[in-house]
Amino acid sequence: MKIYNTLTRKKEEFVPLKEGEAKIYACGPTVYNYIHIGNARPLCIFDILRRYMEYRGLKVTFVQNFTDVDDKIINKANEEGTDYMTISERYIAEYKTDAQGLGVKEASIHPRATENIDEIISIVSGLIEKGYAYVASNGDVYFSPLKFDEYGKLSHQPIEDLEAGARISVGEVKENPMDFALWKAAKPGEPYWESPWSKGRPGWHIECSAMARRYLGETIDIHGGGQDLIFPHHENEVAQSECCNGVPFARYWMHNGYINVDNVKMSKSLNNFFTVRDVAEKYGYEPIRYLLISSHYRSPINYSVENIEQCKAALERLHNCYDNLVFALSKAESGEKEGEAEIKAKLDTHRDDFIKAMDDDLNTADAISAIFELARDINTYTAASNAPSKELCQYALNLFNELNDVIGVITIKEEKSLDEEIEALIAERTEARKNKDWATADRIRDELKARHIVIEDTPQGIKWKYEE
Ligand SMILES: [Zn+2]
Repeated sequence: MKIYNTLTRKKEEFVPLKEGEAKIYACGPTVYNYIHIGNARPLCIFDILRRYMEYRGLKVTFVQNFTDVDDKIINKANEEGTDYMTISERYIAEYKTDAQGLGVKEASIHPRATENIDEIISIVSGLIEKGYAYVASNGDVYFSPLKFDEYGKLSHQPIEDLEAGARISVGEVKENPMDFALWKAAKPGEPYWESPWSKGRPGWHIECSAMARRYLGETIDIHGGGQDLIFPHHENEVAQSECCNGVPFARYWMHNGYINVDNVKMSKSLNNFFTVRDVAEKYGYEPIRYLLISSHYRSPINYSVENIEQCKAALERLHNCYDNLVFALSKAESGEKEGEAEIKAKLDTHRDDFIKAMDDDLNTADAISAIFELARDINTYTAASNAPSKELCQYALNLFNELNDVIGVITIKEEKSLDEEIEALIAERTEARKNKDWATADRIRDELKARHIVIEDTPQGIKWKYEE
């Protein structure tokens, strides 16, 4: 598989440090609010990277952190007159609801900054000992990027440019404008942890260096995140980790592109963002994931209501294909027919195309096209007058599920929950009839009919079955 590496600015063959394994770290959210569509893009993309590597037989350890103490969280707690933990717990739970809705699998480990203070203190101590960091007069600890020769190598910026852009804010006690905080002494009323330097809390960048090392080791295979994290966050992670550990930090860096709204980058600071929750309440989660993965991860995406509606329509085609296939399978007879071996071989070419696309720097756009091509073939065979055999239907269904499981385009309801859904519709119809709400009753009857379900009134109550 080839991956575009931000560090080398080249597509490179992915060779894991340890054969057969992949250690991946992706920066997670700062939990002080609902996530927006821009935050959801790396969630979906790195979820797919992980699933694909597992599909290709790698043992993947995927770590995604929660930044659960930070100025924004503390400010929100102060606004609400509560403590930072109440805020972070609430938004971790909300994050999990959205992630699950988006079909994002749980990470192997979801560490939190506040659960890793010892590891953070150990890295900061190492950096002070080696002369890369210093304790300021107020108990803050700062890192000096100018002492790291390779600073700027990830974002490909010459050190002079970075120096020109650096400022010291009012009240900061650092020696050089470039220096950044590893440890912040607590102000009155702020949460704090004991440390050799002051009662305080970690800076943002250091937590990822600490958690990556603790859970994945000093050198990891892939580090991922949004493009907006390249500088300063990831540049600083590289500097901290490499100066402390003396070995390369991440071997491949992957960054996803921005989401634009009317061609302006979506961000909280510009207040042009949409939360995943708001969009999901209106359109469901499925079209959001689809929008985020149907373009190549490095390209920008434009968010608009029109785009979301197009995504919904595209997904409907795949759902219909799936439903038709399940229906065809339920009616099909055993015994492979003549010519079906060739059809299977033709279906297999879509898997080849899918893998080829995914191997080329996770090209989900082309991989999804391969699924649509497969769906088109399936529709042709299920609609043919010469009905496909049970074996062919099952073969096609397995292949559809195999590819869909990797990329998670449509959410397939389990057979049992499909039954439950139908039972619920029938109950709703019975209720509507009782209330003489004929419009609703008819609408539900039509909906059931569209799913090839016939209902029958019997003395024992209403029964349903698939159409003969
Ligand atoms: Zn990070």
